[in-house]
Amino acid sequence: MKPSAAKTQDAIIVGAGVIGLATALELLRQGARVSILERNRTGAESSWAGGGILSPICPWDYTDVLTQLTLYSASLFSEWTASLRNTTGIDPEYWQCGMSILSPMNQKHALNWCERNAVEIQQQTLSIPYSDNTNPETTSRNQTHDEVRALFLPGVAQIRNPRLMQALHQRVKQLGGQIHENCSVTSWTARKNKIVSVQSSCGSFAAENYIIAAGAWSKQVLGEFALNLDIHPINGQMLLFKFEQPPLPMIVVKENFYLIPRRDGHLLVGSTLEDTGFHKQTTQSVKAQLIENAQRILPQLGNMPVIRQWSGLRPGSPLNIPTIGRHPGLFNLYINSGHFRYGVTMAPASAEILVNEMTGSKQPLDTDPYQTGWSG
Ligand SMILES: Cc1cc2nc3c(=O)[nH]c(=O)nc-3n(C[C@H](O)[C@H](O)[C@H](O)COP(=O)(O)OP(=O)(O)OC[C@H]3O[C@@H](n4cnc5c(N)ncnc54)[C@H](O)[C@@H]3O)c2cc1C
Repeated sequence: MKPSAAKTQDAIIVGAGVIGLATALELLRQGARVSILERNRTGAESSWAGGGILSPICPWDYTDVLTQLTLYSASLFSEWTASLRNTTGIDPEYWQCGMSILSPMNQKHALNWCERNAVEIQQQTLSIPYSDNTNPETTSRNQTHDEVRALFLPGVAQIRNPRLMQALHQRVKQLGGQIHENCSVTSWTARKNKIVSVQSSCGSFAAENYIIAAGAWSKQVLGEFALNLDIHPINGQMLLFKFEQPPLPMIVVKENFYLIPRRDGHLLVGSTLEDTGFHKQTTQSVKAQLIENAQRILPQLGNMPVIRQWSGLRPGSPLNIPTIGRHPGLFNLYINSGHFRYGVTMAPASAEILVNEMTGSKQPLDTDPYQTGWSG
């Protein structure tokens, strides 16, 4: 794809989440003219709601197709966020704090995975004030502390989602990207094997290329062109606490549950995987369950107020594998979506892969597995 001489845009992107903005940034850096159509406000959906862990939790539980994308993308983050900070003055607070994964887990499988993927890992015994007494992996107990086996991944980092979104938004605007907020895409006009325009609540737009990055809504937005794409919303709830100092030095994970300390003392507690359709909901029962789980690791949380509870709709997809690439029947329609639980982690690499495909450039890894989503 070469920047067009005509006044139309080179690319219209639907959705201003982390994926849409990262894709816009990559295109703008290559000199393309880009507009983003966003139904609400920039970066206010799943990309805002997430925890910002730059790794799958229990990374050994996923396929090699997911692993190659998350490891490569996570390796880009330090430079990506430093560049955003330097150019916008907004700091996404990249912090390589490490991640401790508490038992139960298959240690042998985890250690093998780390060796195979050259990921540094340390075996730990953590002293937890009170933990699950039914846990057979607990090695010893006294009145107030349990010694719990854990695996520590020192290379895992985190970012703060709202700040990353603000920095990306600012950078896209600095580079001349146009963002149309409160602009909901409603339909497409196609002729032969190409899209000629997109209709929205704020008018009709035309461009050389069209990119769907509408997260959980991507299938809806594509309508009749979605083919067999399986992208569906999965609700996740989070709680926020505030301490004077970070109460933990690293992210702590136990099965699907995690605690994420921020440097300023905020602590995120999450999360859930709920199939509630497009209903973004928070519930008292999940709040109580998250507090109970968190108290097992940090008992002092029992006396602290929950500052905020929220939820977000992840773009769920089979095996957490996103679809990144060209539509099989429409040569100027692309998708970058379905990143499910790890869209923030995958964002810079997914943007690079999509733009490489559009420009015919060499890919950093085997991208064929990210094209299969169209056929279900
Ligand atoms: C609770 C929770 C915790 C998470 N934790 C992590 C984590 O620790 N690490 C990690 O890597 N990932 C995490 N994730 C997953 C990650 O947040 C998502 O995979 C990622 O944000 C998806 O980005 P996106 O840009 O595709 O979607 P979104 O951020 O949802 O953006 C899609 C955008 O498209 C817009 N849109 C929709 N329909 C239309 C339309 N018709 N017209 C125009 N615009 C439209 C929406 O308004 C939205 O702004 C978490 C998610 C949740 C909910």
